[in-house]
Amino acid sequence: MQKILFATSEAHPLIKTGGLADVASSLPRALLKRGHDVKILLPAYASVLAKAKSAGLKKVAELVINEQPIKLWQTRLPGSLVKVLLVDIPPFSEREGNPYCGPDGNDWSDNHWRFFIFAKIGEAIALNKAGLDWQPDIVHCNDWQTGLIPALLSPAEKRPAAVFTIHNLAYRGLFSYNIFTELNLPDYLWHHERLEFYGQLSFIKGGLAFADAITTVSQSYAQEIQTMEFGCGLDGLLRARSKDLTGVLNGIDTEEWNPGSDKLISHNYHRRTINQKVNNKTALQAQLGLPMDKSIPMLGFIGRLVEQKGVDLILNQMNELLALECQFVVLGSGFASYEQALKNIAEQHPDKVSVTIGYNEGFAHQIEASADLFLMPSLFEPCGLNQMYSLRYGTIPIVNAVGGLRDTVVEKELDEIGTEGNGFVFHLPTAEDLHATIKRALLCYQQPNLWKKLQQNGMSQDFSWEKSAERYEEIYAGVLNKVTQH
Ligand code: ADP
Repeated sequence: MQKILFATSEAHPLIKTGGLADVASSLPRALLKRGHDVKILLPAYASVLAKAKSAGLKKVAELVINEQPIKLWQTRLPGSLVKVLLVDIPPFSEREGNPYCGPDGNDWSDNHWRFFIFAKIGEAIALNKAGLDWQPDIVHCNDWQTGLIPALLSPAEKRPAAVFTIHNLAYRGLFSYNIFTELNLPDYLWHHERLEFYGQLSFIKGGLAFADAITTVSQSYAQEIQTMEFGCGLDGLLRARSKDLTGVLNGIDTEEWNPGSDKLISHNYHRRTINQKVNNKTALQAQLGLPMDKSIPMLGFIGRLVEQKGVDLILNQMNELLALECQFVVLGSGFASYEQALKNIAEQHPDKVSVTIGYNEGFAHQIEASADLFLMPSLFEPCGLNQMYSLRYGTIPIVNAVGGLRDTVVEKELDEIGTEGNGFVFHLPTAEDLHATIKRALLCYQQPNLWKKLQQNGMSQDFSWEKSAERYEEIYAGVLNKVTQH
């Protein structure tokens, strides 16, 4: 049994903007089930405090760090026994909205301060100096918001082992040199092998340079980020640390994402009753005002409307896609220009395209259950969760061969689907390749026996957290060895 502090800026269902929240909820629960003593460390955003009240909230410490008074609350992850420690400072707890940016889409101007204080609390708990009488063996940090924790811990004599997981390397937590001095970080950290990144301060480098082990969320992404193309300028450092870098594919919450028992969809179904799936499609067509037609293929897209997700590929090919015999259902939010472009298309083609701007869990489940095909033309994708949800729901994914998409979706010739073929894959991120791949998929859709085979293959796959949690345990055991030998 190990004591694990899991530091994260999101955890579902308390706060979620993307896949990190899913991981930060599922992995601690899986680790708890395997007998570990896990505590999540999370900012006490206003919305989190409101949700946590119903689960019970108890103040466990009050500290002052850099003259900033901090309250530390304890609650539980709703629906589980995992303990959550909430770091309460006014810039977290007195602000509504997105954790990272304001309503104008720009980052909060004090993000450096908020996540610096968060890291200082992580350090204090890790060194058993927060008054909790609990010292973790492992501090598992996630993405740039927690990157300073391994850097702050590194000089300590008796410290826990630090593991750092990259969920998305594109977010490097970059700030000016002035902020480095404002935060009063020790001078030796200003070095290109430590926190300095081409004249700027990078929070994520704290994790990449100082963690005892680095993980990322798929094996392919672990390789890709060591190349110039995907390395975001950090590939050199990652190559230097390649011995300590492992890819562990995320699992998914197989209870929440189970078409057999999902309460958010209109008709439940499972592998043997896959023919019932179509009832979800007709229900969604009725709900969205699309022509009700069982046989027309429906393509779904859910995600952040940002460049990474390949929105340009879809928009650039829209005329050709609209000429195909199919319906498009889109759910997402992000860049205003993408949102507007998609809304315009839906207005012009109400019989073919439905676009919903916003974040809506229930609707995401409905789309997964209703669509025949799911589009994920991401330019890069560390792991990606939606393609796994799709596979589980018998919704065939169409993906660009990058990162976790490459590791989970397999395209075979139609006469060789066997037990492996489960989707459609393109290898050049161009609008033309996306178009050609959708056409290939639609041809297959006309052959119900082959289609069913793809569905059955996807629905038989095991995406549960058990396997991944076991890999993390091995990584924890490895770093513990390393740290105690020092
Ligand atoms: P990322 O973390 O890059 O956003 P992932 O595929 O790893 O991408 O995870 C995205 C998660 O967020 C998935 O669970 C997906 O269903 C969910 N999601 C994204 N956008 C929306 C939205 N607009 N409404 C509901 N769920 C969404």
